[in-house]
Amino acid sequence: MELIKTKDLSKVYISGETETKALRGVSLVIENGEFSAITGPSGSGKTTLFNLIGALDSPTSGKIFFNGKDLSNLNKRERTLFRREKIGFVFQTFNLIPVLTALENVAFPLNLLGVPEKEIKKKVYKLLGKVGLKGMEKRKPAALSGGQQQRVAVARALIKDPVLVLADEPTANLDSATGGEIMKLMRKLNKEEGITFLFATHDPMVMEYSTRRIKLRDGKIQE
Ligand code: ADP
Ligand code: MG
Repeated sequence: MELIKTKDLSKVYISGETETKALRGVSLVIENGEFSAITGPSGSGKTTLFNLIGALDSPTSGKIFFNGKDLSNLNKRERTLFRREKIGFVFQTFNLIPVLTALENVAFPLNLLGVPEKEIKKKVYKLLGKVGLKGMEKRKPAALSGGQQQRVAVARALIKDPVLVLADEPTANLDSATGGEIMKLMRKLNKEEGITFLFATHDPMVMEYSTRRIKLRDGKIQE
């Protein structure tokens, strides 16, 4: 089943006198359950495309559909609601909150929703176990390795049972062995839970793990 469909998507950034055409007519379809990578050199438009798919931003022109729902014309509030419910994000720099423990970082998105404390704890412990962090629940990010921090970030992305996880350069700050472990973990979650994963990357290792590669160049799909 079709999860995402973009039609002639374009994004122009305007800052002062400068216009940057970050995306120029991107049309693609991502099926439910994919484990795919958007690849391309720095500046090719990967993050811009993610921001549109993840409803962080609106396109300049073109359409974007998520499960058949048109995201292109949502206002800011509608985009936020959509994002909270459907999308998990994983970042290059992990983006954990330093003063919170692993447990609290993963619980954070649920606290915002007002889920009962006891229910949250149960769910977080289970998920931290699933990503290989049993026994490390009370540690703060500084007491975890880069790979462990990214595992916390993966758990945080999954805590609300998203349909889609967008991982932008998830291995960029990890050595290749650790990056490989993170890719294996995400692949397992993809297979076992049916969550769709989309990567933005220029890391050949991420490309290798991915089941499909979509190449961007200068804001256009190359192949
Ligand atoms: P990638 O993630 O592939 O490195 P980006 O989507 O970040 O590419 O950037 C695509 C192009 O858009 C680049 O030329 C970049 O400089 C420009 N760009 C990205 N974000 C902004 C922004 N907020 N304002 C202006 N230009 C931007
Ligand atoms: Mg980028």
